[in-house]
Amino acid sequence: MFKLNLKDAFHFTLVLLAASWGHFANAAARPNIIFILSDDHAVRAVSAYGDSLVATPNIDRIAAGGIRFDRAYVGNAICGPSRATLLTGLHSHANGFYSNEWSGPFNGEQQTLPGLLHGSGYQTAVIGKWHLYSDPVAFDHWEVIDNVMEQGTYYNPSFRSPAGIEETTGYVADLITDKSIAWLEQAKREDRPFFLLYNHKTPHRDWMPGPEELRNWDEDARFEEPATLFRNLDGLTRARSDARMRIADYMTDSDLKLRKGTNLTPEQEALWEQAFAEGNRQFAAAQLSDEDKLRWKYQRYVKSYAASVQSMDRQIGRLLDYLEANNLMDNTLVVYSSDQGFFLGENGWFDKRWIDDASSRVPLLMEWRGHIRPGTVSDALVQNIDFAPTLLDAAGVKPKTPMQGVSLLPLFKPQPKPWHRDLYYHFYENPGFHGVARHYGVITERYKLAYYYQNDEWELFDRETDPADQRNLYGKSGYDDITGDLKRRLQALRAQYQVPETDPEAAWYHGAVVRALEQLMLWLF
Ligand code: CA
Repeated sequence: MFKLNLKDAFHFTLVLLAASWGHFANAAARPNIIFILSDDHAVRAVSAYGDSLVATPNIDRIAAGGIRFDRAYVGNAICGPSRATLLTGLHSHANGFYSNEWSGPFNGEQQTLPGLLHGSGYQTAVIGKWHLYSDPVAFDHWEVIDNVMEQGTYYNPSFRSPAGIEETTGYVADLITDKSIAWLEQAKREDRPFFLLYNHKTPHRDWMPGPEELRNWDEDARFEEPATLFRNLDGLTRARSDARMRIADYMTDSDLKLRKGTNLTPEQEALWEQAFAEGNRQFAAAQLSDEDKLRWKYQRYVKSYAASVQSMDRQIGRLLDYLEANNLMDNTLVVYSSDQGFFLGENGWFDKRWIDDASSRVPLLMEWRGHIRPGTVSDALVQNIDFAPTLLDAAGVKPKTPMQGVSLLPLFKPQPKPWHRDLYYHFYENPGFHGVARHYGVITERYKLAYYYQNDEWELFDRETDPADQRNLYGKSGYDDITGDLKRRLQALRAQYQVPETDPEAAWYHGAVVRALEQLMLWLF
């Protein structure tokens, strides 16, 4: 018969103490992780990168306290696919989510970052934009914007959670932040570390600013026009001239705030009118030439975009203030990035999708006190396949099956080893909105080579002489050796990542439906 004597009891107590100490020590050593992911936030609109369209003092706090990556890219510059890559550390072909429009719901049962963190004892939550058409898996808590096919509305969006649909009143960035802080209030009480995906909708199309920015709207403010606002794309590759993303032709009246914003309460509508009505009246009366009309549209567009960024930046500041006030910054890795960049008038365009820096390059900032020297800058080539491996490395968790990215932790040190030599890019969403041709390519230290395989067209850009990806050097004399080398590197990347030779296809009618919808939007909105 088992009898507990004093010696055994003492021993047992020691074991318990050691176990709980081990648990405590482990919890203390493992950082909390907050990934702030915005939607379509171009590097050109983050003031931590200098020469910005807009001041982002709160996002900049993360750069000042940590590391700024100057050459961070996504592998497929479109919303859902970029998010699927963040969750899996895999390119689109390997995680199965190729396209917002036709590649179906994300399979959250595969190996994911939240799954691995959750399995190792992290508390996990995703709050805000999700846009993967399946319920989040491996999150203890999730509340994702739901209306308008998971795009959500800027004002009064609905949220989906295991409890069902919640209707709200307010501005989307404020609501997402309220919900995130409410969850952190719970999570900080546990002795387990937490992982929060704090996902903003802002500044996605149609760039609706928050109440504060509506109140302070300055119709007379002027932004500098990009040198290529009036660029003629005829005579370039067919891929370029076929794209339907010119500000002049493809922006709706809603985009331009010539119509009332969607889903507003009477109070919000009054603010809206106060901001835009007089400017709209003047525009209607002015009878502008085509050239001046484009100028006007550009100003309205970029000012709305910048104002939306400011509405979000203020909320990010509120979250950072909360972390500071609750002594959470010392053991929390905070990351800021976007699901891709955005054209802000370059080539006369809006939208994304292309391999060009304007679209595939993203802001990437990380703060982790005691681990990253404040004010560090890295120009290493990094990609969103690296995000999950980095966070797992910080948490001390190993993936069960290999991811395609690598941990960025060594780049926190002053003299890291050589990094990715080159990055693989692959855009699939054609047929699709904006008509951007499918393309894959390689991004290196100096060059970009892209292949538009539906048209059998190539583009070569030299970053050193043409940082804005404007001059196609493919086939020009003197570039044969470089092109040959880049083609070999591209093939090597395709072999390394095991990219299938054939792509998935959209339904045969998809292209016609999309073009009809685009026309309908221009008429109706
Ligand atoms: Ca996006």
